[in-house]
Amino acid sequence: MKKISRRKFNQSFLKGVGIASVATTLPAACAAGIGATDGKKLGVALVGLGGYSAGQLAPALQDTNHCYLAGIVTGTPEKEKIWADKYNIPKENIYNYENFDTIVKNNSIDIVYVVLPNSMHADFCIRAARAGKHVICEKPMAMNVEECDAIIAACKKAKVKLGMGYRLQSEPYTQEVKRMVREKTFGDIRYITAEAGYFSASNPNQWRLNKALSGGGALVNMGVYAIQSAIYGTGENPVSVSAQEFSTRPEYFKETDESIAAQFEFPRGIVGNIFTSHNVNVNSMYVGASKGWFELRPANSYGPLSGRRSDGTEIKFSHESQQKLQMDDFAQHIKEGTVNRAPGEMGKRDMIIVEAIYRSIREGGKKIPLDLGRMGIV
Ligand code: NAD
Repeated sequence: MKKISRRKFNQSFLKGVGIASVATTLPAACAAGIGATDGKKLGVALVGLGGYSAGQLAPALQDTNHCYLAGIVTGTPEKEKIWADKYNIPKENIYNYENFDTIVKNNSIDIVYVVLPNSMHADFCIRAARAGKHVICEKPMAMNVEECDAIIAACKKAKVKLGMGYRLQSEPYTQEVKRMVREKTFGDIRYITAEAGYFSASNPNQWRLNKALSGGGALVNMGVYAIQSAIYGTGENPVSVSAQEFSTRPEYFKETDESIAAQFEFPRGIVGNIFTSHNVNVNSMYVGASKGWFELRPANSYGPLSGRRSDGTEIKFSHESQQKLQMDDFAQHIKEGTVNRAPGEMGKRDMIIVEAIYRSIREGGKKIPLDLGRMGIV
C-alpha cells in the first residue's frame, strides 16, 4: 500500500468527520474563550515529571505546531531547575502540588496535562478545571467510574475542554483501521483479537504494583489499549464481557492483576478476545471480516506501527511522534473546534468496561452485560 503523509491524511480526514465537527463545536470553543481564535500556540503545563513526561511528552512538545511546553507542576523540588534549564521554563510557570491552584492567575498556561499515578488523576484534573484550564488526563482516566463522572462534570461546569491521553487516537494507523471498518473494505467485521502488555521486570516498589495508587494492574495500564483496539477494530461498543485472571508470579503481583483475558460480545454477534499482561510482551490487533482480514503488529507501542491486509498489501504511514500528533489535535480542538478525538466520555466508557471485567473475574467469569450505546465512539 502506498505511503500516505500525515498532511494528506489530515486533509482527507477533515473532508469527512472533521468539517462537520468544526461547524457544530466552534461556538462551544469560543464560549470557553481560551485561545479560541487568536492562532497563538497554547501553553501546556505538565503535572508529574516522571518517565512519560520526561521521555515522551516534553520532547514531543518541542515539536508541536499548536501548543508548547510552558510550565511544570512537580512534587520534587530538585526537578524544578533541571527542567527550567532544559526547557527554558520561566520561574513563574513552575508549581508544586500545594500551590498548584494559583495557576488560575497564569494566563500563559492554557492546558494542564495530568501525568501522575492514577489515584491522583481526578484530584488534579478537577483542580485544573476549577482553575479554568483545559485538561488532558492520562490513562486510565481515574480509579473508578464515579471519579470519571466527577472530572467530566468539573470540566463541563468550568466550560473547559477535556481530552484523554489516548495517543493512538491521533495516529494514522488507528484512523486507517477506523476507515476500513467504516467503509467495509473487507466486508462485515466478524472477529477481533487485541493484545497489549509488557514484561514487568522486578521492581516491587513501583506504584503500578500498589493498588491504592494504580487502581489495578495490567488491565488499567495496558488493557485499555486492547479494549480500545477491540472497539475501533469493530466500530462498536461491546454489549457484554466475560473475563478470567491468570498469574505465574503471585509473589510479585501481590495486589494487582498480572494477566487478564476477556471475551467481548458485540452487537450482531461479532466476537472479540482481548488479552493484557504485565508478564509478557504482546502488542497486536487482528480483525477478521467476511471478505478478508487486516492486522497491526505492533499495534499500541510508540511506533513506528506496522500493518498487513489479506490482499497482500501493507498498511504503512510515515512515522511521527504520536504524542506530538495527540497534543496538536487537542490544541486544535480548543483553538478551531475540530473534533475531540479522545473526549472524557471515552475515558469513562473504558472505565465502565474495566469495572465490568473486574466484576466478571470476581464472579467466576460470569457474563456481565454492558449498556454503552455509541458512548465514546468518535
Ligand atoms: P512514573 O512513575 O514514571 O512517574 C510518576 C510521577 O508522579 C513521578 O514524577 C513521581 O514523582 C510523581 N508522583 C507523585 N506522587 C507519587 C506517588 N505517591 N508515587 C509515585 N509517584 C508519584 O509514571 P509514568 O510512567 O510517567 O506514568 C504517569 C501516568 O502516565 C500514569 O497514569 C500512566 O498510566 C500514564 N502513562 C501513559 C502512557 C501513554 O502512552 N499514554 C505511557 C506511560 C504512562
